[in-house]
Order: sequence, then structure tokens, then C-alpha cells
Amino acid sequence: MKKGKKLYEGKAKILYAASEKGTAIQHFKDDATAFNNQKKSNIEGKGILNNRISEHILSSLNQIGIETHLIKRINMREQLVKLVEIIPIEFVVRNIATGSLTKRLGIEDGTILEKPLIEFCYKNDDLNDPLVAREHIYSFGWATAIELDWITKQCFRINDFMQGMFKAVGIKLVDFKLEFGRLNKDEKTKILLADEISPDTCRLWDATSDKKLDKDRFRKDLGNLLEAYQEVARRLDILHEQNNVRPIKFPKPIAVKIKKK
Ligand code: UDP
Repeated sequence: MKKGKKLYEGKAKILYAASEKGTAIQHFKDDATAFNNQKKSNIEGKGILNNRISEHILSSLNQIGIETHLIKRINMREQLVKLVEIIPIEFVVRNIATGSLTKRLGIEDGTILEKPLIEFCYKNDDLNDPLVAREHIYSFGWATAIELDWITKQCFRINDFMQGMFKAVGIKLVDFKLEFGRLNKDEKTKILLADEISPDTCRLWDATSDKKLDKDRFRKDLGNLLEAYQEVARRLDILHEQNNVRPIKFPKPIAVKIKKK
């Protein structure tokens, strides 16, 4: 797969042009950032795990009829995707209150929400991705009411599916962020699920201990981020293809003297 010019570089991924028109190569970096880039690090192997986990989730969603930008994973760090025009809204779905929701509204951390909650944030790093109302989205032409209703329904379908998928492997899906993009084809516009779904963009807690298996390990300096992401991949039964995340160090051979007879 020939990689063309860099189209866009984000905090955790790079998008390159691909040889076929309308497609792109999405490259997963090892960079970890939090608090709008104020905290940065590089965690060797994170990109490889996110590439594989996101491929697994997006292709499972494809199988239940949710169209995504994913065409295929092409190597350890890259996926071939359909090139879409990203809608500048982050769609956050929450099942349990934590993170910014608890800070903003004084809700107790860990409160189980009666039904899933969706929030809209305007994708703009300079403004810290502010929370916006539906009316802002219509007023500024980021999406129409019909598009927003449709996307909201998709978000809840995705939540139902992912909650089940994670519950089956002993993980609580606390919250997550989705992005959607427009694909223009044959004078028609289609909206596809885009970006990634990984422990970088979800909060995942172990079902019995509430141990954090997501990017909060980095945000809150809990350590062992790679091990947590590996645990998610292992439980989803996709780790066996992942055994070269970190090079295995073999001990030095021990010299054994062989007595000559
Ligand atoms: N999230 C994300 N990218 C963002 C903001 C949030 O992937 O730019 C995810 C985050 O990982 C969590 C959910 O969206 O799973 C809700 O995040 P929250 O609003 O609580 O923000 P935070 O506490 O991370 O500032």
C-alpha cells in the first residue's frame, strides 16, 4: 500500500493520502496526550494496540449494519479508511458518571445513569472542546436536525452493542467518544462512523474491581497503561496477533563447558 502525502496530524494519529481516490491511511502513533495537550508522553506499543482494538470494534459494528470508515487494517499501525469530511462535533455517550460530567455538575463519581446520556462537544482544541447544545449545532451549520437525530440514534445503537460486547468479557463501558464524517458519492451524502474506538477514547472499568483499563491510567498517573490496553485486547481475544507489541528480550545464553572425553 503506497502512502501519499500527510493530510492531517492529530494528537494520536496521522492521516495520509492513499493511492485509491477517496481513501486514506490512518496511522496510530504511540503519543499519549491529556488535558488538551498539556500532558504528553510516548508509550511504546500503544498505537499498535489501539489500531487492533479499534479495527475489532469497528468491524464488529460493520457486521451489525453500522457503516464505518474502516476498509481494512493494513499493518500493525495502519488502517485503510474511506476519506470523509469530519463533522466538528465529538459525541460523548455516558453510562456511568465520571470525568468532566462529575466536575461540571457535581454528580458523584461512579453514579450509574438511569439511561445513557449523550453530550455534544464542539471539536476545537483552542476552545477546549466546549459542550454545545443542539441549537448551536443547527445555528452554525455543523449538522442539520435530521442528521443529528440520525447520529444520536446510531450513538445509542453503538452503545448497546459495545456495552454487551464488553460486559461479556467482564468490563463496564463507562463512557466513550465518537466522531462521524460525511461521504459524498454520486451526488448523495452518507454519514459514516469515523476516527477510532479504543481505550484512548473510552472509559473501561473492570466489572468486579472497577480497575481502570483505559487512558485514565495516563491522565491520573496510575501507571501500567500498556498492560491495561493489553488486558482489554486479551479479554476481547485479539491479543494473540499482538504478541510483538514489545520486543521480547531473551536472556543471554549461558556458556556451558563441555568436558572432552
Ligand atoms: N474523550 C475523547 N476525546 C476527547 C474528550 C473525551 O476520547 O477529546 C472521551 C474520554 O476518553 C471519555 C469520554 O470521552 O471516555 C468522556 O470524556 P470527558 O468528557 O469526561 O472528558 P475528560 O474527563 O477526559 O476531560
